[in-house]
Amino acid sequence: MMDIDNLSLPLRILLVQSNRNDFLHFDRAMKESPVNSEITLLMTAEEALKRVADKAPLFDIIVIDHELSGRSGLELCADFVEQNVSLPLILLTEPENKNFAAQFHKLGFVNEYLIKDDNRNYLEILAPLLSEVARKHGEILARKQHKKALQAFEKRFRNLLAKNADGVVIVNKNGKVELVNPAAKSLFGRKTQEFLGQPFGFPIIPGQIMEIQIVREGLEKVTAEMRVAEIEWKGERACLASLRDVTYRKQMEDALATANMGLYQTVQELKKANKKILEQQRAVIEEERLKLLLQMAGTTAHEMNQPLMTLLGNIELLGMDKNAPEKIKNYIKRIEESGEKISGIIKKIQTIRPDEPHMLSPKDEPSVINLNKKIRILCVEKLDDDFEKINTFLNVRSQFNLFRTRCLKEAIQVLEHVQFDLILSEYFFPDGTAMDFLRIMHEKDTEVPMVVITGQGDEMIASQVIQAGAFGYISKTKMNNTSLIRTIINAVEKGQLRREIKEAHKKIAEMSTKDELTGLYNRRYFKGVLRQEISRAKRYGSGLVLFMLDIDHFKKINDTYGHSAGDMVLAEMGEKLRKWTRKSDTVCRFGGEEFVVILPNTNAENAGIMGERLRKIVASHIFEFNSFQFQVTISMGFTDFHKSGACPLSKLIDRADNALYQAKEAGRNRVVEFVPSSLSSNSKDDLQQLKAELP
Ligand code: GH3
Ligand code: MG
Ligand code: MG
Repeated sequence: MMDIDNLSLPLRILLVQSNRNDFLHFDRAMKESPVNSEITLLMTAEEALKRVADKAPLFDIIVIDHELSGRSGLELCADFVEQNVSLPLILLTEPENKNFAAQFHKLGFVNEYLIKDDNRNYLEILAPLLSEVARKHGEILARKQHKKALQAFEKRFRNLLAKNADGVVIVNKNGKVELVNPAAKSLFGRKTQEFLGQPFGFPIIPGQIMEIQIVREGLEKVTAEMRVAEIEWKGERACLASLRDVTYRKQMEDALATANMGLYQTVQELKKANKKILEQQRAVIEEERLKLLLQMAGTTAHEMNQPLMTLLGNIELLGMDKNAPEKIKNYIKRIEESGEKISGIIKKIQTIRPDEPHMLSPKDEPSVINLNKKIRILCVEKLDDDFEKINTFLNVRSQFNLFRTRCLKEAIQVLEHVQFDLILSEYFFPDGTAMDFLRIMHEKDTEVPMVVITGQGDEMIASQVIQAGAFGYISKTKMNNTSLIRTIINAVEKGQLRREIKEAHKKIAEMSTKDELTGLYNRRYFKGVLRQEISRAKRYGSGLVLFMLDIDHFKKINDTYGHSAGDMVLAEMGEKLRKWTRKSDTVCRFGGEEFVVILPNTNAENAGIMGERLRKIVASHIFEFNSFQFQVTISMGFTDFHKSGACPLSKLIDRADNALYQAKEAGRNRVVEFVPSSLSSNSKDDLQQLKAELP
């Protein structure tokens, strides 16, 4: 708006006047007044028309003298009005034409008029009048412009809303709906008149994001995410609620949560079962140990009693025959002998070990494996006699199927072709040890439980093989059918539990939607969202862009700074992508060092700008790992769903990938948009497939 009061901005007057003398008076009156002005004098109507047609905005006000040479000032005024000159007009008139001037003023052709009286009194009010008219006109103009801008904004806003895939509802300060867009109508399954002027029916709290349940008559229930913002609508305070259908996402999250809960429970149960088995094993071992101790104590009680009595008796005699050295020597000898006997018995008791075979039949023990199931055992044993012994022990149960190899090499070969439930292996082979065997199995990722047969007193070996991954060990000398069967069943059970837990973890990973390293969504989730967005873009014609990006020469980073540095770059890239995108965008790790981003409500032009911005952010970032500093670039390809022709999901991905390939080919570190060639236009098949994909 014009600020006439500010004296530093002159009031720019276009004066159209033929009388030179009048002009000099006019000029002087303005100069003597406090109004800062700048006068442009034109002597004829033609000049004025020409100047105003060219440069009207250069003036704030036009003053026209009625007495012009050739044409009358009134005519010029009429010309200006006809030409829609949007500047205030002031007419200077002689007293005899006063009536015309008043008429013109009344009709709104001129803003004001002044009568040139003989004493030139009009010059006294000239400056304040001009400045006041110009100021008022400025205000009106500004108000008009503001109103026009508001109307234009509202029109644009309504257009945008009509195309927006998200539902939008505007609620006035009385809680009544003022505006609703098509997406909101289809979300609620209601018509415009069912909204307008009615209460919205959901709590509207500015700044709030909440989930609401929409029950549509005759249709399925829908969950929507609602964001509320305060806006000015038609000059009044109002609230804008933006609603997004998140039913699919919720369903997926719920299904996932249920599945996770189920899996979590399974894992917990398996863990419990495993713990129970371990406790049972421990209890059995303790029981055995106790029984053996008691047995040992019972069988040796009288054995102990005898030397103890001798010992005590001789001590007594020692006290009585203090002065007979020969006798004393004898007593001491017997005391020593008794002591040795006692210590021998004690040593025996101390050597009772927890892994001694116990007397319970394994049939009585609870088990997590099906006891009728065949257990296929690979026995690695070079000595025929020893193998025969094992075979005899295991023959008591038809459950066991025993296979034999004689050395490590043979065993490895057999394992490559046949599936076993257990390996029963001796420690030393002609071509290695059980430790080598375990290492090779580990390298080959073979997970067959192994029990190692050790020699007597080989506790060191036993603990080594357990640490290296064996599921159990058994001493060759203490082996009988009971101990062997129990050890085998324990190992098979442990193996099965471990497999089940691993399987459960694998399932959890499969059900998950997030990638662990970057925290971004994974490929599986990405496809679900893309399918949704394609159907949304199809239905509402809303924008949709798919980005695919790949780190340039990423292999070099791994090779130069190590895999952990590469992982750090991937994690940081995830962070940057999250920051760069909007909440409504979906960022996923597509695999390795490739990412995809789904941008709804976006067109190719904006996508190009955004992509370029991200490319620059990454290229100028300095990554730091340990003491290394390095820079990384990315190549990006994107495709606009509508611009390159609607297509099915797989083809849309191919297009982004194709653009990415072009970016790589053109030298990397750039953003390329997919350009459809005449050959790749939509086939009938594509459209049919796309139809089939739409929910
Ligand atoms: P280009 O510019 O053509 O894309 O070259 P590039 O080296 O980036 O591409 P290439 O496909 O040859 O190599 C990708 C490398 O990314 C190979 C692979 O070892 C590495 N990689 C994939 N996933 C991971 C990961 O999770 N962590 C790390 N550190 N590296 C990964
Ligand atoms: Mg790469
Ligand atoms: Mg790659």
